[in-house]
Amino acid sequence: MLSTFLPVLLLRSLIAGLAFSLVVACAAEPLANALPAKVPSLALASQELTQVEEAESEPPMSFDEWLADFRVQALQSGIRPDVFDRAFAGVTPDPSVVTADRSQPEFTRPVWQYLESALSADRVRNGQRLLRQNTELFDQLEARYGVDRGALVAIWGLESSFGQIIGDKSVIRSLATLAHEGRRPEFARAQLLAALDILQHGDVQPERMRGSWAGAMGQTQFIPTTYNSHGVDFDGDGRRDIWDTPADALASAAHYLQQSGWKLGRPWGFEVMLPEDFDYSLADAEVRKPIGEWRRLGLAGIPAGDEQAVASLLLPAGYRGPAFLVLDNFRTILRYNNSSAYALAIGLLSERFDGGGQVQASWPRGEQPLSRSERLELQERLVRQGFDPGAPDGIIGANTRKAIRGYQQGLGWPADGHPTQELLGRLRAEP
Ligand code: CA
Repeated sequence: MLSTFLPVLLLRSLIAGLAFSLVVACAAEPLANALPAKVPSLALASQELTQVEEAESEPPMSFDEWLADFRVQALQSGIRPDVFDRAFAGVTPDPSVVTADRSQPEFTRPVWQYLESALSADRVRNGQRLLRQNTELFDQLEARYGVDRGALVAIWGLESSFGQIIGDKSVIRSLATLAHEGRRPEFARAQLLAALDILQHGDVQPERMRGSWAGAMGQTQFIPTTYNSHGVDFDGDGRRDIWDTPADALASAAHYLQQSGWKLGRPWGFEVMLPEDFDYSLADAEVRKPIGEWRRLGLAGIPAGDEQAVASLLLPAGYRGPAFLVLDNFRTILRYNNSSAYALAIGLLSERFDGGGQVQASWPRGEQPLSRSERLELQERLVRQGFDPGAPDGIIGANTRKAIRGYQQGLGWPADGHPTQELLGRLRAEP
C-alpha cells in the first residue's frame, strides 16, 4: 500500500539485466532504469509515509468522461458489454488509491529489521504447519513445476501471510482510479483490461476480485497481466482462483517461477566469509563467477557442490555486514519481486522451515539507512564530485552504486558501493 511504485508484479519478466536492489522499502525498490518492481508484499506492509507529493494537475477529463471513453475501448478489445457494466456497477474513484500512488516513503527500514519481520517465528511456524498438512499437494507441485516447496511456501508467506492478507480493495476500482489519474495511466489501463478479461473468463466474481491499492491480487499478489500469463487452475474446477484456492495460488506461483528459470534442488545461495583485504568492488550483481573461482579468491564457508555454478556476491548491508553468494535461483526470485532483500528473505525463510536459515555474521545495527532525501542529496553530491549516479531519484540502483564505488576508491575506502551516513558526511565535507 505504501510504495511509490506501481505494482508491476510480473512486469519483471520484462526487466532486462537484473541487478540487486539493496534498499528495502517494505519490500521492493526498483532498479534504476528498470520497470517498477511490485508493491510491497501485503504481509509485510508497514511503512511510514512522511512525504506526500503535491497533487499533480487535475486530470483532463472527469472520471465519468474517462469511463465512457474507456468503455468504448474495452468493448473494442473484446470485453462484452454485460461484463463491463457489471464490473463497473457503482464504481467511483478511490481517493486513498490516489494518495498511495503519489506518496513517497521517506524512511527505509534497515535490511536486518526487514528480515526480522519476514522471518518472524509466527511465519516460520505457520509455514512449517502448512508444509506438514499439504505434503501431497507439494509433492504434486514439485513434480509438475520443478519448484522447491520451501521457496513456494516462503513466497506465499511473504506475499499474503499464506493467504490471510490478500488486500481488501476492489481491483477494478483501484485500477480504474489509477488509469484515470494515476502516475502511470497507460500501465493501469492495460492492467484494467486484463482484469476485465479475467472477469469475462469467469475465474472470479467482481466482488471477490480484491487486492492491493495498486492492483496486485490474491494470495500470490499477481497483477492481472501476470495472472493471465501464469495463473493456473490446479484443482481443475475450471477457475484459476488465486483468492480462495491455495492449490491454484501455489501452482500459479510455481508456474511463474518455473518459467523464470527455477532449478529444483539447487541452492538459492549461502552465507560466506570474506578474507582480509578483499576487493569489495567484486560484490556487484554484474560480477558473476563460478563458485570455484570465488573459492580461489579466499571466500570461506562455501559448501560442497557444483563448482561451475555461477554466483554473485551480495553484501546487503555493505562490507560491515554479512556476505552471501547468490546463484541462479536467487535471480529467479528477483523476477518475482525485484528486491534483493526480498529474495534473501525468501531464501532464508525456505531454510528456516527446515531449521536452518540463520545468518551467522552480525549486522551493522548501529548504521541508520539513508532516508529518501538523504539518498537524493547523496546523488546530487556525487554529481558535484564528477561522478554519474544517473538522474537523482533517491533510488540506489546500479549507476549510483557504481558512482559510490568510484568515490570510495578515491578515498581508499572499501569500495562496496553501499550508501551510508558516513559516506554522506564525507561528501558534505567536500569543498
Ligand atoms: Ca481452480
